[in-house]
Amino acid sequence: MTDFQPARGTRDLIGEEQRRFRHVVETARQVAATYGFDEWATPIFEDTRVFSRTMGETSDVVTKEMYTFQDRGGEGLTLRPEGTAGVCRALVSNGLTQSLPQKVFYAGPMFRYERPQKGRYRQFHQIGLELIGPAEPLADAEVIACGWHILQALGVAQDTVLELNTLGDKESRAAWREALVAYFTEHQAALSQDSLARLDRNPMRILDSKDEGDRRIVAGAPTIGAHLTEAAAAFYDGLKAHLARFGVPFVENPKIVRGLDYYVHTAFEFVTTKLGSQGTVMGGGRYDGLVAELGGPPTPAVGWAAGIERLAMLLEAPPPSAAPVAVVPVGDAAEAAALDVLQALRAAGVRAEMAYRGNLRRRMERANRIGARAAVIIGEDDLKAGVAQVKDLGSGAQDAVPLAEVAARLA
Ligand code: ATP
Ligand code: MG
Repeated sequence: MTDFQPARGTRDLIGEEQRRFRHVVETARQVAATYGFDEWATPIFEDTRVFSRTMGETSDVVTKEMYTFQDRGGEGLTLRPEGTAGVCRALVSNGLTQSLPQKVFYAGPMFRYERPQKGRYRQFHQIGLELIGPAEPLADAEVIACGWHILQALGVAQDTVLELNTLGDKESRAAWREALVAYFTEHQAALSQDSLARLDRNPMRILDSKDEGDRRIVAGAPTIGAHLTEAAAAFYDGLKAHLARFGVPFVENPKIVRGLDYYVHTAFEFVTTKLGSQGTVMGGGRYDGLVAELGGPPTPAVGWAAGIERLAMLLEAPPPSAAPVAVVPVGDAAEAAALDVLQALRAAGVRAEMAYRGNLRRRMERANRIGARAAVIIGEDDLKAGVAQVKDLGSGAQDAVPLAEVAARLA
């Protein structure tokens, strides 16, 4: 027999890990709803061009990380490496480009062929927001405030710092790009192979390099500040003013660029020092050109995505699972009555379990092992009297309760 293991870079979520995971998603879903976001679920695979067109043909994700395949009908498909392109494709496919704004929340698996390490997997999971329609910096602030609110609700906000930057508008970027090319050309002897390739095609991406040598050069690279047009500077000032009003603390970091091509104006990351080099827990920005790339009208939009695994690791403690009630029949005659009580408890919304076999001692041992909060014991005499002994397993207190009232008592 082959000793099967999960495929490299994938994980099974069981027990505490799954509870952490679910807590992240449920908390985010709830907070996002208070900001007016509706949940969408889009397919986990799409026409490859949905990603290659929008994320940039030269981006790391498209050149190295996509799970791309041909299906049996010869369609070129890709397991989604991120959520934004699929949501924008869905906006266009469903004719929603005239019904703006759309405020979208999503949660689900993403796939990237990466070198697996702590906090970096090949199947990982993201929650994300997209606010599609408004061009105002208030939208950017609202999306960021919602993200921060989620981090607060998870109890991890104090472990993260919001790093904020602007990538300017087209004009600002063209000027900045020129300055970057001049600077990196001067230092090209010391650049990594990857970054040399980026120099022609997308010099901004060198700023995002994880190579040690590159990072030393990047430290001295020109920033966009001096190249911002008046309009782009005003947009950025507007965003910062709204964030201040919302009480969201941030630091400015002119090196934040985001890994994908489609961003303009706002770029931001929530980073933590608690997860080693996988420190970015949430990242996003404004992507005004993306909907048009997918065949829709020019449509401004802003959003973010956060890694659920990384958030789950930051959680102080996972939420406990609800303690069950153990139903304990003694003797065959009691079992039928016990099953009625068991189903009545479940119908009342109580987590209830009954062992499949065993005497009183065995069944009580099991009740303790599963962390039951109470045992409902039904012996021969109880059966005759039409009652059950309801035992609080915390205090040890025990009490005879009519069978028909057990569920109400424990609900
Ligand atoms: P990184 O710089 O860590 O590679 P990224 O810029 O590629 O991140 P995004 O595309 O912005 O990441 O995705 C948003 C978030 O999704 C990241 O901040 C991170 O929390 C999470 N994430 C991205 N890739 C992975 C992965 N392979 N495994 C686990 N989480 C990931
Ligand atoms: Mg990456």
